[in-house]
Amino acid sequence: MTVKRLAAATAGVLVTAAAIGAPARPTIPLFDAATIAARCDTELAKARATKKTIEARKDTDVFADWNRLSIQVQDFGYPVYLLQNVATDKATRDAAQACLEKLLPFETEVAQSVPLYQRVRAVRPKDAIDQTFKQDLIEKFEDGGATLPPDKRKRAQEIADEIERLGLQFSKNVNEDPTTVVLTPAEAAGMPEGWLAARKRDANGNLILGLDYPTVVPFLQNATSDAARRKVWMARYRQGGEQNLLLLDRALKLRYELAQLHGMPDFATYVVKRRMAQTPAAVNEFLGKVQTAVDEVEARELSELRADKAKFTGTDPAVPMLYRWDLAFHQERVRRARFKIDQEALRAYFPTDKSVLYTLTLAERLYGIKFVERKVPAWHEDVRYFDVFERVPGKDAAGKTGAVGKNAAGKPGAFIGGIYLDLYPREGKYNHAAAFPVRPGSTLVHRTPISVLVTNFDRKGLNHDELETLLHEFGHVLHGVLSKTRYADQSGTSVKRDFVEAPSQMFEEWARREEALRLFAEICPECPRLTRAQIEQLDSARKYGQGIVYARQREYAAYDMKLHTGVPPEAMATWAELEGKTRLGHVEGSLFPASFGHLMSGYAAGYYSYMWSQVLALDMLSAFDGKLMSADVGRRYRQTILASGGQRPPQALVEAFLGRKPNSDAFYAEITGRR
Ligand SMILES: [Zn+2]
Repeated sequence: MTVKRLAAATAGVLVTAAAIGAPARPTIPLFDAATIAARCDTELAKARATKKTIEARKDTDVFADWNRLSIQVQDFGYPVYLLQNVATDKATRDAAQACLEKLLPFETEVAQSVPLYQRVRAVRPKDAIDQTFKQDLIEKFEDGGATLPPDKRKRAQEIADEIERLGLQFSKNVNEDPTTVVLTPAEAAGMPEGWLAARKRDANGNLILGLDYPTVVPFLQNATSDAARRKVWMARYRQGGEQNLLLLDRALKLRYELAQLHGMPDFATYVVKRRMAQTPAAVNEFLGKVQTAVDEVEARELSELRADKAKFTGTDPAVPMLYRWDLAFHQERVRRARFKIDQEALRAYFPTDKSVLYTLTLAERLYGIKFVERKVPAWHEDVRYFDVFERVPGKDAAGKTGAVGKNAAGKPGAFIGGIYLDLYPREGKYNHAAAFPVRPGSTLVHRTPISVLVTNFDRKGLNHDELETLLHEFGHVLHGVLSKTRYADQSGTSVKRDFVEAPSQMFEEWARREEALRLFAEICPECPRLTRAQIEQLDSARKYGQGIVYARQREYAAYDMKLHTGVPPEAMATWAELEGKTRLGHVEGSLFPASFGHLMSGYAAGYYSYMWSQVLALDMLSAFDGKLMSADVGRRYRQTILASGGQRPPQALVEAFLGRKPNSDAFYAEITGRR
């Protein structure tokens, strides 16, 4: 997932802009609750003043004006948005939420500015980048309501504001859900020592489980008691609660109304027309093909799991029902038996700190960059910060050429930007994995980017799925920090929604191939080493279960499209009906939509984007021609795809990188486990 909500707001003079040749190394400001509360209104007033000034201008470059306004708003708003998700104290998170509720409407205010719209329309773009930017802005004005009659424009603003507030509340309800599950030690049978030791206990020695990933995922994979798994599964699939279903239904109604204001039949049509897919029909056609491709694979995999359950429980193979809380458990058993892959045991192979170093080293070698850790103030003591430099030929302490970001004269290469890593779960923290582009770069004003990685990993080690997650999110981080776009609003991950997951999904491959994983031995000589045969087993184990994974992804995407097509149906009933038609059915009492955050963010009518992007991700991989560590291809990819952000259409970028039109062969091979 990538997070980008205050998508394009805006204002004023960039105070941190670096002087050319002596780049400043900006960091994220750490506001506390009082500062956020005190500054929120002033910042908004300043942004409005800037907007007014640039609306009245005639002779200046409107794109540069817009860029300054965007940056002014981002400099305050984006750190506040980050803090709403990661601040350690509830007061700061609450103040951040209250402030965002005030700031977010400004985005629509700008998008509804008729004078700015007219200024942008009158521009004759000086090159292709400005042409794309002009088109982006015109679409933003049209979608925001600048072209609507005043009464409809006002209503569009009210709707946008309310949707933003609903989204903030929804994610807060998920992040701060206080639900715990108390289990007796007997109910935790099957769990590894390390996991048991890390859990909280009550006075009677019972385990207290939260809903975070390091707790829930291993439990569902390993706990032998199906009754206990059911308890934990149910708590997880009720996260967010009934309250969130109400928020979701309200958002659906508002989105429908918004689409109608714009003369569109529904929300899906209104948003998909700006994406690569262009029409909901194209999305649905794609989802239909996915379903056809994976249907049999899923059926076969489920019957294998059912057989495993029969073996495990000693019942007649024809009898056992397979439940949703059985899936991960029996998948793990089959993977262990068939491929000798034990996800828990893999944690010894991938210690968390070494996995981070692995990821950084991969990026350094592929993209010709260098990460240098620096102590900077952060929101929590676990958070790490790295400066990112161009890698220049030089010598390190051991005399090894090119090993450090300093040249022979001891000067580092050009400063590129900064990254923060916030890796471990905490109470009240954003509870999935995401990249936050907190400071979008802009070459026009020499503004360097900062991206933040937020995950919820086990401190000791990662299993293979989590190593893929780390690389996935780091793919978004690199997209942000290696961006070299002229304007901040086209920076890095500010690409079309159905392209944004391509760089991140592509980077997952570096967790799968021997050539890349060999690096791990270099980084961690004391770690147990995966043999070539084990890596192949790991990949076979991953391919096993693809039918189940993609059938589920198709269901999520089809559900999302259904909610946003035509008059919105009731969210929970629609899910129960749709899930009820699947092979594993719907579990009465579970409330999956209450924690399906994508539906409340920029992924509304956009969940299909993951698979749509993956078509391009897997096709782009083919350029490496099996040589995953090729620095030549890596640099070309950095220059063509990552550096360009949203300043060229994705189709054109991918074609330029591949030297041909993209195709979906690799994707269909992947989802049917043939790749
Ligand atoms: Zn992602």
